[in-house]
Amino acid sequence: MQPIHDLIIIGGGPIGLACGIEAGKAGLNYLILEKGALCNSIYNYPVNMTFFSTSDRLEMGGIPFMSVGTKPTRTEALEYYRRIYFLFKLRVNLYEGVQSLKNEGDLFYVKTSKGSYQCRKIVLATGFYDLPNLMNVPGEDLPKVLHYYKEPWPFIGQKVLVVGGANSAVDAALECWRKGAEVSMVLLGDEVDENVKYWVRPDIMNRIKEGSIKAFTRSKVQEIRPQEVVISTQDGEVTIPNDWVLAMTGYKPNFALLDQLGVKLSLDEKRQPCYDQTNQESNVPGVYLAGVVCGGLNTREFFIENSISHAEAIVNDILAKKS
Ligand code: FAD
Repeated sequence: MQPIHDLIIIGGGPIGLACGIEAGKAGLNYLILEKGALCNSIYNYPVNMTFFSTSDRLEMGGIPFMSVGTKPTRTEALEYYRRIYFLFKLRVNLYEGVQSLKNEGDLFYVKTSKGSYQCRKIVLATGFYDLPNLMNVPGEDLPKVLHYYKEPWPFIGQKVLVVGGANSAVDAALECWRKGAEVSMVLLGDEVDENVKYWVRPDIMNRIKEGSIKAFTRSKVQEIRPQEVVISTQDGEVTIPNDWVLAMTGYKPNFALLDQLGVKLSLDEKRQPCYDQTNQESNVPGVYLAGVVCGGLNTREFFIENSISHAEAIVNDILAKKS
């Protein structure tokens, strides 16, 4: 029989790890359950991705985050979190996904891909990178349609359509074009999003202006076929030859675990989980929310920099309620 944990943290991303650091410092018997590798979302980001936050603003546990440039790369971030994991001897079970949660009396029952656990408090720090926003168009299930972009090498000499106008789309479009792909973009508005990283925006705007990357503005993908894509544009329907579709249409949190515990979501389009911003406790006593999952479908509201403080708020609240 497993001991009853004071706290189980679901998700071994940056914020789950920050919660582990605080729980360890407070002497709580905690466990982090992570369904993939350490910082699995970041591991799955594009290989050449650079963060928009400067490295000092991502620091946790008082440990300096060194990066060669002012903004760290994905590899530097993965190295930082690896060091954090070993330095704080964080108790993380990797490759152990949480499948179901149940509350009974004062305890929570956690069933994973490898076993089951009991705990007094739960932190949901499950991020938002597991479910892509689908376009819901015919042909989206073809193998040439990718919702996760890693690197440009597979697309050399290929006709690539990038869907979306945010950072992920712009990075993918520029990288693929620079490696010799023939790149088009489908944008909902008149240009790429305003919040594209300020040092990248002029680059994509100029590539579009000079015609190196063709942008279909105020447009939507209508249908994807094995060798072409039909786009609905402001001038009518356009069909272009196509080898790959990179659907960089964003991601959304998986609300299933929140649902199982009875965490309520707001009724507006944000679907934001209900929680108290002073201590991160949800409408279900003992269930806390941390990190980007707190924003619901508004996945831009929280990022690492502004959610590291969730960890301390949660552990302080647990200690206060314990005493
Ligand atoms: P995550 O890092 O997503 O961690 C959640 C973890 O929970 C994952 O490891 C996941 O595998 C795990 N998990 C989910 N479900 C389960 C389950 N059922 N059982 C067990 N484990 C589970 N933010 C920035 O601050 N700066 C940036 O520059 C930046 N760039 C970004 C670029 C891209 C392409 C994307 C998509 C996001 C970017 N973000 C950036 C946002 C970034 O995702 C978050 O800031 C950061 O990862 C949030 O950490 P988190 O711990 O809340 O969530």
